[in-house]
Formats: sequence, structure tokens, C-alpha cells
Amino acid sequence: MLIVQTVEELRQETRRLRREARRIGFVPTMGSLHDGHLSLILESASRCDATVASVFVNPTQFGPTEDLAAYPRDLDRDARICRDGGVDVLFAPSVEEMYPEGATCFVDPGPVAEPLCGAVRPGHFRGVATVVTKLLNMVQPDVAFFGRKDLQQCAVIRRLVRDLDMPVEVAVVPTVREPDGLAMSSRNAYLSPEERRRAACLYRGLAAAAAAYGRGERRPEALVAAAARQMTEVDRLQYLELRDAWTLEPVTGFVEAPAALCVAAFVGRTRLIDNVVLGEREAEAGWRYSLSA
Ligand code: AMP
Repeated sequence: MLIVQTVEELRQETRRLRREARRIGFVPTMGSLHDGHLSLILESASRCDATVASVFVNPTQFGPTEDLAAYPRDLDRDARICRDGGVDVLFAPSVEEMYPEGATCFVDPGPVAEPLCGAVRPGHFRGVATVVTKLLNMVQPDVAFFGRKDLQQCAVIRRLVRDLDMPVEVAVVPTVREPDGLAMSSRNAYLSPEERRRAACLYRGLAAAAAAYGRGERRPEALVAAAARQMTEVDRLQYLELRDAWTLEPVTGFVEAPAALCVAAFVGRTRLIDNVVLGEREAEAGWRYSLSA
């Protein structure tokens, strides 16, 4: 595996890969890699002839009071995980390399970025859409892999790719969880042991809603209430909403699959997000290898 830090080296390597490999997969990350990231890498390695991964803590997607400076970083460890997972080229640029002085263009993802995380993290998805556009232009992969844990991010990227005619397939990979159900996240490292224990109630809530859906419950309020009853150990529930899993529009009337129950909550000072897609089995085929529909 080659580690490159400049756009020029990256382009040189991807040109070389393209001559040898029919299909190039790309896995963008902010590093501090865990098994969730690894599942994206393994998915790319199994579906593509070559895999490029990136590690870049993108400042433009953090708000002024957020955890940019504290965000965990360990490039040596990340590089080992990438290499063992089958990555061919790891791109680890500096902030100056990604945003040279004087860069003023940004990508506005539109209404899909407005609800949920977009409402409580103004500018977040503008930063995400901008950095993903730049990375896709740099790597020019055939397939880009994203985790369903960040469901709204997936929706933003599908729109971006569709509306800006980007020649890439967007593949969405299921959420990888800890044994007690907590979605793996680099931010879990911030949790104290006591907070870590309490954080598991988020998944218990999502699982309770999925179980109620499985028993035939289709009223949005009842499904949200089933989840909320379990989520009492968090310090602050920021949102808990049922949305269309593709468009993220609110679900009105009875729920039809696929609908996503999305949650954001603070446990201590750590903000965690998660979601469950109801009617998953019906939607499964579409989710695993979703095109930019
Ligand atoms: P991040 O480093 O948090 O920006 O995440 C990089 C990619 O990994 C994104 O596409 C995330 O959705 C994905 N990801 C993060 N956590 C998980 C997880 N627990 N399971 C699957 N994918 C994940």
C-alpha cells in the first residue's frame, strides 16, 4: 500500500491503478478507523479491482464550537488497518493541500441537508458535500462507499452525484455495531465507561421501534414513542424522527417501508447519531448496492 499526501501524487497513482484495474473503489474517512470503516474497505476490496481510501479530518464540516481540534487522530494505526483491509492507495492530505489559500467555492446540497443533523449543525453538509466533491474529482473512482450510520450524509451524496452528474456509483454499507448494539463511531472514544454503558440505550430504542414495526405497528407516533421509552439514559435527545429513508421527508400517515427512524443525542458531552430502517428486509437489496437514485 502506498501512502500519498498530495493531490499530484494521488492523481499519478490513480492513473497507474486505472491502467491496471478495471474498477476502482473509494472509501473516504476522517480516520481513527474502526470496524465500521473496515467493512467499507472490505466491501470495496471485494467488489473492486483496486481500492483508494482517504483519511482527512475535514475542517469545513465542523462548526465553530464543535470537536475539530479534539477529533482523534492516529495515522500510523489507520494505515495498518487500511493495508490489512486491502487498500492500495491511502490519501492523507494536509488541510493546506485540500484547501489552498484563496479557495472560495463550496457545494450547496439544498433541501436534503436541511432537516435532522442539518438543522442542528448549520453548514455541516455544505462542508461534507464540498469535500466529497473534491475527493471524488481527485480519485475519480467507479464506486464510492459510505456507511448507512450516516444516513443523511448518504442522502446528501446521492443527490450530489445525481444533480451534478458525477460518474460514480454510490454504495451504502450497513451499520457495524458493538456487541450491545451501539453503532461504532470514532466519537465513542470520548465516552467514559459510565457514559458508554448508557449510550447503548439508543440502539435499544431503535430495536424496540423495529420490533413494534415487525408486530405490525404503522403509526409514526407509536413507533417514535416505542423508541423514546428506551432512550431515557441519554443526557439530551436532540432529535428522534421518522423520515422517508431515501428523501428524508417527514413520514405522514401510516409508515410504508423504507422509513428511517433517526436519532441524535448527547451522552455527556459526546454527540451520537444512529438510525434504523424499518421494513429493512424489503429495502435490503436496494440499500446494499444503491445507485444514485
Ligand atoms: P467518518 O470517518 O466518521 O467520516 O466515516 C467515514 C465513513 O465510514 C462514512 O461513510 C461513515 O458512514 C462510515 N461509518 C462510520 N461508522 C460506521 C459504522 N459503524 N458502520 C458502517 N459505516 C460506518
